[in-house]
Amino acid sequence: MALPQKTLRDAAALLDAGLITAAALPALSALQSRYAIALTPEVQARIASPDDPVGRQYIPHADEALSQPHEMADPTADAPFTPIKGVVHRYPDRALLKPLLACPVYCRFCFRREHVGPDGGLLNEAELEAALGWFAAHPEVGEVILTGGDPLMLSPRRLAHILGRLAALPHIHTLRIHSRVPVAEPSRITPELLAALRLETPLYLCVHANHAQEFGPAAGPALRALHGAGVVLLGQSVLLAGVNDSLAALEGLLRTMLAHRIKPYYLHALDAAPGTARFAVPDARALELLRSLRGRVSGLAWPVFVRETAGGAGKRPLGPAW
Ligand SMILES: *Cc1c(COP(=O)(O)O)cnc(C)c1O
Repeated sequence: MALPQKTLRDAAALLDAGLITAAALPALSALQSRYAIALTPEVQARIASPDDPVGRQYIPHADEALSQPHEMADPTADAPFTPIKGVVHRYPDRALLKPLLACPVYCRFCFRREHVGPDGGLLNEAELEAALGWFAAHPEVGEVILTGGDPLMLSPRRLAHILGRLAALPHIHTLRIHSRVPVAEPSRITPELLAALRLETPLYLCVHANHAQEFGPAAGPALRALHGAGVVLLGQSVLLAGVNDSLAALEGLLRTMLAHRIKPYYLHALDAAPGTARFAVPDARALELLRSLRGRVSGLAWPVFVRETAGGAGKRPLGPAW
């Protein structure tokens, strides 16, 4: 079946595609200036109905306008750990580099809730130089984690430049990229992009996906090609109500990751970003699910369940414990 042609970027386009009702249009049009919309052709093809596990992640909902008292604008508390634009340094030996904030898809639960246009949030040349200079001046930081936004949205030329500069620093022993692209927009995994990722320095790619249904026919070849380029594939997911908060969905997700050479790394508890309450799963329910999963799936499939601690103390494993 042919893929849809275009990325859908506003509520009117969602209505045309039959993904929202005319009655929902005014509320969702008002919301789109706050929380961006982007459904790639690959993602559209994965949605069988608007309320299914893929639709729920990407199609906006009027409840996003509602904030709860405990929800925070910066739930991961990156701001106090930002020594220079684009860098977040919270742990002694590793730091984030965020070369751009744009993302191929705008998940409705994302903690980065501000509106970022399709090319928005790109560090300019001087800012990128300053960020790379920060890494050069901090030899105790041996691991760089490219995140964003989504680093695989960069042009292969720009990505090769950034990775090459970092890999040339003698103290950088590990490079890591966090991305939804291999699953949500696998057409971006081109020979040029693969060439940019083929490095002497070990490169770990942490692939975000939350449900097996997100993996379409193009994801397999893209992930295989990444693996063939020497990239180590890890998986990262968020536990989300109505998406993957059932034993069958979690098991399906973890097994699908393994089938694609992805080692599940983290399962995140939802960050309390404004308007995300409809995805919240109570901790007791999460731990019960994970307890039931233990023993049912290979140890290879087992992620560490973590929550980002308010105030910037970092990710804490939540259990289960026996
Ligand atoms: C998540 C995160 C990391 C990486 O943590 P790991 O546990 O090594 O995956 C590093 N820095 C910041 C600021 C983070 O939020």
